[in-house]
Amino acid sequence: MPGVATQDVIRQRNLSVLLRRLHVDGALSRADLTAAMGLNRSTIKALVEELAAMNLVTETIPGTAQRAGRPSHVVAVRCDTAYVLAANVGVDTVTVAAFGLGGHILARRDYPLGGPGASADAVIARLAAECAAIRSALERSPDRRLVGIGVAIPGMVHAEDGRVEFAPNLMWRNVPFAAPLSAALDVDVPIRIGNDGDLGALAEQVRGAGRGVAHLVYIAGEVGIGGGIIVDGRLVLGRHGFAGEIGHVMVHPDGRPCRCGGRGCLETEVGEEAILTACGRDPRAGRQATHEVFEAARRGDRRAQDGLRHIAVWLGRGLGSIINVFDPEVVIIGGPLSSLLPLAEPVIREELAASTLPHRRSVQIRPPGLGEDSSLFGAAELAFERLLEDPSMMGEGAARVRLAAEDSATADAVVEDLATADTAPTRPRQRAVSGS
Ligand SMILES: [Zn+2]
Repeated sequence: MPGVATQDVIRQRNLSVLLRRLHVDGALSRADLTAAMGLNRSTIKALVEELAAMNLVTETIPGTAQRAGRPSHVVAVRCDTAYVLAANVGVDTVTVAAFGLGGHILARRDYPLGGPGASADAVIARLAAECAAIRSALERSPDRRLVGIGVAIPGMVHAEDGRVEFAPNLMWRNVPFAAPLSAALDVDVPIRIGNDGDLGALAEQVRGAGRGVAHLVYIAGEVGIGGGIIVDGRLVLGRHGFAGEIGHVMVHPDGRPCRCGGRGCLETEVGEEAILTACGRDPRAGRQATHEVFEAARRGDRRAQDGLRHIAVWLGRGLGSIINVFDPEVVIIGGPLSSLLPLAEPVIREELAASTLPHRRSVQIRPPGLGEDSSLFGAAELAFERLLEDPSMMGEGAARVRLAAEDSATADAVVEDLATADTAPTRPRQRAVSGS
């Protein structure tokens, strides 16, 4: 028989697995949960009741059942209590949104970054102000509680201390991000940052076009080209956490210089500036002009169509190398670059056929399931990770309120525990543990 301490660990693990499943898969009946988690009905009932007491899930009893016998209770996450703030820092736009459990967007703001060369300090100050505005609006409801903050950055980031090593298209080098944002916001929840491509890949795998896919490549671009690679269900991070920089794979030795210091990177051949140049537009004309080029090609404009076919050739060549190395099942082309698929997929496929090994030609090329918001959703998943790992932090929060009234010293210890950041950017799907 397991001891009390072991039973507590098992119960915590099962609460985590159950909440994660409802967060990712949506509402499920207790019968479905019993089958999916391999636990008995009374254990599922007890776990659901515990999560309900923490205001994390709700149960409903369906109406008249078609079958004989009692209908199984349907369990769903509550999106009106725990929430996270997620931001995607683009090269010209920042998006910040509040997400409830289940990936529901509760509030959202898009605003310009602040011009080329915007400093990290300026971006952090504005982001903090936008987050504070969303918080004060949402927290008019007393049940709402902020449980984490996640930010997607277009560059190489240190997950452990929230520092940006290098973001070439923002011209940021070695700048602290999470710590000053935390100070500006004055909150006691973990703030995590991640690479936008990695977070896009993660979100597409959790709730986008790559659901259930264990081997996945995600590529997305606007000014820069980012990406993330998932192998065996896990994000490939590399020694420094900087893996997946697909945009800086060299495809054209005689190509244009890249902001990374290299030349002929995939980014310089298929990024926004390359698209505008190939279509006869000013390369600095920006996102709106890029959308116009795609629109012109859809209307039949020959110059735009020819330019985009040229881009598709380079994209196919770049992807071919990546497919040869990683042997993915699915490649997701996200961000504005996804508009290239309906216009030039045959050209991409032709290049892939010429450059990939025979058994890799069955790879599926898909548009993103989350539109241009893959990285934003990924930032939200990063921010939810602490709660999903340990749902009882919500219970601790309730306890903290009670303790604050009774014993401030004890309450401080709980607050300190809540503020401890955990840095793992992704975890494999977990299995329930029997025995609780
Ligand atoms: Zn480069």
